[in-house]
Amino acid sequence: MERIVIIGSGQGGVQVAISLRQEGYEGQLTVIGAEPGLPYQRPPLSKAFLKTGDAEALRLRPATFFEKNGIELVDGVRVDRIDREARTVHAGERSFAYDHLILATGTRNMRPPIEGADRALDLRTLEDAARLRAALDTPKRCAVIGGGFIGLEFAAVARGLGHEVTVAEAASRLMARAVSPETSAHFLTLHEGMGTTVLLGDPATGIDANGMTLASGARIEADLVLMAAGVVPNTELAAEAGLAVDNGIVVDAQLLTDDPAISALGDCCAFPDPATGRLVRLESVQAATDHARLIAKRLVKGADASYAAVAWFWSDQADSKLQIAGLSSPADDTVRRGDGAVFRFAGERFSAVETVNDAKTHMQARKKLAFSPIQRSQLEAVDFDLAAL
Ligand SMILES: Cc1cc2nc3c(=O)[nH]c(=O)nc-3n(C[C@H](O)[C@H](O)[C@H](O)COP(=O)(O)OP(=O)(O)OC[C@H]3O[C@@H](n4cnc5c(N)ncnc54)[C@H](O)[C@@H]3O)c2cc1C
Repeated sequence: MERIVIIGSGQGGVQVAISLRQEGYEGQLTVIGAEPGLPYQRPPLSKAFLKTGDAEALRLRPATFFEKNGIELVDGVRVDRIDREARTVHAGERSFAYDHLILATGTRNMRPPIEGADRALDLRTLEDAARLRAALDTPKRCAVIGGGFIGLEFAAVARGLGHEVTVAEAASRLMARAVSPETSAHFLTLHEGMGTTVLLGDPATGIDANGMTLASGARIEADLVLMAAGVVPNTELAAEAGLAVDNGIVVDAQLLTDDPAISALGDCCAFPDPATGRLVRLESVQAATDHARLIAKRLVKGADASYAAVAWFWSDQADSKLQIAGLSSPADDTVRRGDGAVFRFAGERFSAVETVNDAKTHMQARKKLAFSPIQRSQLEAVDFDLAAL
């Protein structure tokens, strides 16, 4: 293989370029990214960066790394078409031929059909975060649409800096898609304890120059409205090229699309969950980097291993570090251990553990989940002591 092209220079796109070189790939390697400048990590955008404004600290690698490793970084260029027959991608007047193409296009913020939605600020890119940070320069009344990870991380920082904060969440609890009711309740107490107003089950219906209106008719006066209502995967390029898309670019257990010359990874792809075989799409650094490593091994070494990494995730909100090991569904059953660790079960199968400021249990859970499936009865027999299992 002589030419590998990667579309997207985020966490996964850059990691796959790094891993390809680490595995010994010596051919041409091009990473094309729509955003300008050097690739950066997003997680600190809703955490440390809002406080420090230190963009250098976000860089995934310095410019010299790309030069030294023969990785051509084409920044500020959006690919607009994939020609699968000619094995070429097009970006305006420019074109890039490939033997293998890797799609790492990530997601973009969802804009729910709310009147005045254009007035809201986003928190997805470095540019978005810099704009928000500048807005927090003087005391503000902040309204946040969405009580998910990003909305709540922003709320914690803004409140910590002394701003007035209101979070409006359409669902009846916080982070409902990703965590148990017990963990939602923990974070509701945390945010309310900080003085943030949290309104649940009341979606925003309108944004105007003075704030926002909720479905109940409630008015939230605000100087700044942040839209953190979730994301949509960037799948259009793949769909237009005739690849299968189902809430993400569909890939198999080797992360190959239905075209053997095209792989996809990270936030933009829907892959079979190793535990259940269900197609899932994750928005996490872990998935993007583990996908990247598997693809690099396959392309360089011909390894045909199936993706089997245990999903894990973190979110920092004020002094609470939430960590999730494994992958649960909202309907999963919940057992809260005496020390607060939350165990999730899909029927009898142990699916995930949620912890707050408990790295030890999180690491134990990641290790245990990596082996053969564990049943609820096995955990009950040892009083949920993972080390004893
Ligand atoms: C504010 C924030 C906080 C987060 N916090 C956490 C956290 O605490 N823990 C965690 O695990 N995850 C967190 N995440 C999620 C994590 O950042 C993503 O899961 C990760 O970045 C996914 O990597 P990716 O490469 O798939 O996509 P991205 O990093 O989103 O990169 C995709 C890139 O592709 C580019 N692109 C798209 N289409 C094209 C095109 N046609 N041509 C060229 N380029 C294109 C985009 O511009 C983008 O730069 C956070 C995300 C955000 C926004």
